[in-house]
Amino acid sequence: MQFKDIIGQQAIKKHLIDTVSHNRVSHAQLFLGPEGCGSLALAIAYAQYICCAYKLPNDSCGECASCKKYQKLIHPDLHFSFPFFAKDKDDVASNYISDWRQAVTQNPYLGLDSWRYSLNVDNKQFNINIAESHHIISRLSLKPFEAEYKIMIMWLPEYLVNSGNALLKIIEEPADKTLFLLVAQNQEQLLNTIISRTQIVKIPKLGYTDVVGFLTTHKNTTPEKAQQIAYLSNGNLHTAQEYIAHEENNYHETFVMWMRHCVQNRGIDIVNQVDELAKMGRENQKNFFRYGINLMREAVLCLSGTPILIHLPDKELDFISKFSKILTLAKAESIATEFEKAHYHIERNANPKILFLDVSLMLVKLLKFNTFPAGTQHILV
Ligand SMILES: [Zn+2]
Repeated sequence: MQFKDIIGQQAIKKHLIDTVSHNRVSHAQLFLGPEGCGSLALAIAYAQYICCAYKLPNDSCGECASCKKYQKLIHPDLHFSFPFFAKDKDDVASNYISDWRQAVTQNPYLGLDSWRYSLNVDNKQFNINIAESHHIISRLSLKPFEAEYKIMIMWLPEYLVNSGNALLKIIEEPADKTLFLLVAQNQEQLLNTIISRTQIVKIPKLGYTDVVGFLTTHKNTTPEKAQQIAYLSNGNLHTAQEYIAHEENNYHETFVMWMRHCVQNRGIDIVNQVDELAKMGRENQKNFFRYGINLMREAVLCLSGTPILIHLPDKELDFISKFSKILTLAKAESIATEFEKAHYHIERNANPKILFLDVSLMLVKLLKFNTFPAGTQHILV
């Protein structure tokens, strides 16, 4: 992976290259950025740059023996660790390295769910177990085979849970010429003992124009469609790709109908729709909640007097202008928070039927009116 293959993030790329040219490469770095911002891709490109034999001012050469192995993620001094479903207590991430190489080569912006999906273990609990921590220690105790540096890229150290402490010593005092690049999304879910031992590289979400550019150039999306998806995906390239992959799912119609049932507190309709939503599959349920979170974000902007950006697709714009009339700022924020929690629980294997029913009841409560504000009785009908 070269820096030129990564969308946007020019300031981060420059920073990373500067650490190499100024000889200030820290031995343990935490790449911290939201899903779909490209942090894993940046870590790989950085590692490739560090090991490249003929570095260019702005990128690795892409041609040397090291780069060629890095491009395929098969360099013997490049190590990966990532969450996986352990079949037994001795199972380690290396047992899934071929699947990992294939998944990351195909899409370095992958999310945890797409990784789960590619291993065909959709509902299993993923983590980085104690056997994996010990395996990392033993792998890194070897001398580099070919490169000056051996580099461990750990994706989602949030999933280390209690096994992370075994790694503290090696992160704090790694062997000479050993680098740790941790790629995380949620700082609050990381062990503090790990955060305090790393240098944090904060990676922002992608800009709107970066996502539009990617979709039109790499996904053959029309400019209009690219603008809509870029807007709804809110700088998350993983989500943007998911919207394209699941375009047949009409999140908008489903979402509007759900809101309509909840506003009008139609018990039977809510239960029937919850049944349908529960059958969607987890990937789709997460997309659906992301869609809802982004719409509520728009409602918050609308209610706080910030004009809605013109990129919002017509259908969504129409819905939000109407829906905002029966919301308050506090209610819109509460709904967004509940959707975020629901998204989190779906990711962690919550029972979808119970979850959707819970969220529906919360919506009924929040959207309940003794009398509708004047002129709004038929807004959602
Ligand atoms: Zn090279």
